[in-house]
Amino acid sequence: MPQLNSLKTRKTLKVGAKSYDYFSLKAAEKTLGDLSRLPNSMKVLLENLLRYEDGSSVTVKDVQAVKKWLKDKRSDREIAYRPARVLMQDFTGVPAVVDLAAMRDAMKALGGDPKKINPLSPVDLVIDHSVMVDFFAGPGAFKKNVDLEYERNGERYEFLRWGSTAFDNFRVVPPGTGICHQVNTENLAQVVWTMKEPTATVKGKKTGGKTIAYPDTLVGTDSHTTMVNGLAVLGWGVGGIEAEAAMLGQPISMVIPEVIGFKLTGKLKEGTTATDLVLTVTQMLRKKGVVNKFVEFYGPGLDDLALPDRATIANMAPEYGATCGFFPVDAETIRYLKSTGRKADRIALVEKYAKAQGMWRDKKTADPVFTDTLSLDISTVEPSLAGPKRPQDRVPLNTAAESFKKNLVEVFGRKGNESAVSVKGADWELEDGAVVIAAITSCTNTSNPSVMLGAGLVAKKAVELGLTVKPWVKTSLAPGSQVVTDYLKNAGLNKFLDKLGFNLVGYGCTTCIGNSGPLPEPIADAVTKGDLVAAAVLSGNRNFEGRVNPHCKANYLASPMLCVVYALAGSMKIDITKDPIGYGKKGKPVYLKDIWPTTKEVADTVAKSVKLSDFKKRYADVFKGDTNWRKVKAPKGLTYTWPTTSTYVANPPYFQGMKKEAGTISDIRGARPLAILGDSITTDHISPAGSIKKDGPAGQYLIANGVAPADFNSYGARRGHHEVMMRGTFANIRLKNEMAPGTEGGVTRFMPSGEGMSIYDAAMKYQKAKTPLVVVGGKEYGTGSSRDWAAKGTLLLGIKAVLVESFERIHRSNLVGMGVLPLMFKGDMTRKSLGLDGSEIFDITGLAGPGKNGNIKPRMDVPVKITRSNGKVEEIIVTCRIDTAEEVEYYRHGGVLPYVLRNLAGV
Ligand code: SF4
Repeated sequence: MPQLNSLKTRKTLKVGAKSYDYFSLKAAEKTLGDLSRLPNSMKVLLENLLRYEDGSSVTVKDVQAVKKWLKDKRSDREIAYRPARVLMQDFTGVPAVVDLAAMRDAMKALGGDPKKINPLSPVDLVIDHSVMVDFFAGPGAFKKNVDLEYERNGERYEFLRWGSTAFDNFRVVPPGTGICHQVNTENLAQVVWTMKEPTATVKGKKTGGKTIAYPDTLVGTDSHTTMVNGLAVLGWGVGGIEAEAAMLGQPISMVIPEVIGFKLTGKLKEGTTATDLVLTVTQMLRKKGVVNKFVEFYGPGLDDLALPDRATIANMAPEYGATCGFFPVDAETIRYLKSTGRKADRIALVEKYAKAQGMWRDKKTADPVFTDTLSLDISTVEPSLAGPKRPQDRVPLNTAAESFKKNLVEVFGRKGNESAVSVKGADWELEDGAVVIAAITSCTNTSNPSVMLGAGLVAKKAVELGLTVKPWVKTSLAPGSQVVTDYLKNAGLNKFLDKLGFNLVGYGCTTCIGNSGPLPEPIADAVTKGDLVAAAVLSGNRNFEGRVNPHCKANYLASPMLCVVYALAGSMKIDITKDPIGYGKKGKPVYLKDIWPTTKEVADTVAKSVKLSDFKKRYADVFKGDTNWRKVKAPKGLTYTWPTTSTYVANPPYFQGMKKEAGTISDIRGARPLAILGDSITTDHISPAGSIKKDGPAGQYLIANGVAPADFNSYGARRGHHEVMMRGTFANIRLKNEMAPGTEGGVTRFMPSGEGMSIYDAAMKYQKAKTPLVVVGGKEYGTGSSRDWAAKGTLLLGIKAVLVESFERIHRSNLVGMGVLPLMFKGDMTRKSLGLDGSEIFDITGLAGPGKNGNIKPRMDVPVKITRSNGKVEEIIVTCRIDTAEEVEYYRHGGVLPYVLRNLAGV
């Protein structure tokens, strides 16, 4: 930890018998003036700069820029930020560990010490993304799903067990423990982090050895890392590549953000839930436009907002578009730390540290200064759900049925006639609007006892009144931690959920990540046969088409309580606020009001059932895992012996033939477009996470390697194997390539012949001919979950540049991180205004030059010559979206990993 400490801010804080060194914002005020009105999230950034001031990556000018922000409320200064730790889930974690393992091999090949490849910051990897809902609605569902999970993922889990012993600073939370963000919030996060400073002898004098206290901060390889901001821990999602760089000691470079203050007043009224609140907040912030900004919550409404409710709001920051949604430390933070079993000395440190740093909020604290503000009286929030395709499309519950019918025509193109079809082996019909999935899922809500116990209470009342779930609904309960099972049992409510088919299916992401498993065959057949607009109701945070299940066109986000209600109702066309939910004992109609618990009932149940002893018991051995995990073979060794037969992990080719010195930057000449794409191309279009098609290049590769289609698993689970992943790049079944009009899926035309073929096959043909490639796209290219394979696959297909109208933040930086050039059209210019059809040849010039980094400067103009098939030539100027000096270096080295590797190898 470099400590220039030129503002003399390093001080000592005594907490009980312990003392900690820290970097005092109060001491900084002596030079900078009053900092008390800085947003709390900005205070966290300022402390980071004071602590890491080294005169090069962080200087006093950076610190002064934060002070200046207080006056201007914005800044264009770029800073180097170093989060305290990194959080990963297994879909993104496996490829990250694969890269680390490959770097060890490469280090050896360069003649360096492989031991140097080690995370420098603490890394926790939670295995939560792999469990699927194959079995449901029965007492054996949990065990059967877990058994299948181990059967499918054995090779990956062996590899991760090797990683957990081979690398320092790297811990694995085994499968079946919970969802990464919930485990982080309930256990891993500390609010104030501590580190023992290494000792050193400088000029014969011993230094260091003290314990430093600083705000707990992190980046995570999952978009919803933001959840922990509810606990005053600044964190957000980054791509796997950025996370790897962060764990290897590289700073995250970022512009000092704007901070939008969100004032909350009032409290939830009877009948409303934290889910309704977050859907309202999401809609408001989407409307406001907070992309690339911090959001910070303040105001008297915080006094009545329980920490799990704050976590729910913070969780959905990616949906409202913000980098994070931060809540400050206050008495509720301390209450939550106590109630979840954090150690007493840590809790004392959190309170004292926050007060000493001016980061503590109470009724008397003056409001911070923000770039802009908006406000919400929480008592105006109404029962809601969001859908059918976007989380920001909130629908008040009392208009949900009407809105669904309207969407049937406007969104799903029904021409007024609705579809219905009889189901094989049943005496009922399935029709448009049928709810075929009702899933209590996702860290967004399963972290919140009020809505989980609320769902249990709804189930209890429904069972007691004689209601049952409709036979076409696939029901599931997948909590984000085992504590949920405990408090449901403590309250005696699990048996009612079980009775309605909401049996435990696993502790993990399940339906939220699309692991909803297949629908029962007769239901799936009926949906396909009738081309029905079937619906899913889930307590998740994302609902774009294809995310939840291939058979669900309409997907609604709702509280766990409403998931139960819709499972009972079975249709989106029923107005559950007026119509009967169903008919109970003696055919008596049962209405929502009959089964909806009061706020007091829920609060009393929470108070009685959520117990400190359960948190202590469940998290006592959080890294040990169950017997299944302990039985997984854990190979030993500094480097990994890559199994040649594995189709899950393989040594990737990023470092093959790597030279000690980086090469020079050259222009990209004679490039052919591989794909021309429209607006809002998601990372899932570029690198799908879901199922692998049998007849696509990835499916064919797996079959050729002896994997039966039933064992394909998903792309997400195969991210440790580049041969599968590069064949899956641009293989999303919904991808529309304008070069191949009328087709859907990963199809293109090979130029100049125009022959139609898969994108993978074309890319390989171009590679053989040594033809560089470009991809052209529209607005918001790379939106959706952060996904490093969207950049890795792009590189491995031979794509040298991506030219679009705008980029999503993480994907742009991931492209640079893999050595692919991001370019952006200027002004109104688009692929359409240029009339591109894919037959063109691109020369991207102005990159090569005499300097170490050629001519490349951040955000410079780049001339691109377009030669049409008729020989006509046009030159356009585009913007280079390499945004920082550090990124220029990454680009020259061919990406961040070769850059770090060469640095660590000392060349
Ligand atoms: S439950 Fe959903 S939001 Fe939470 S980590 Fe899993 S996939 Fe992400």
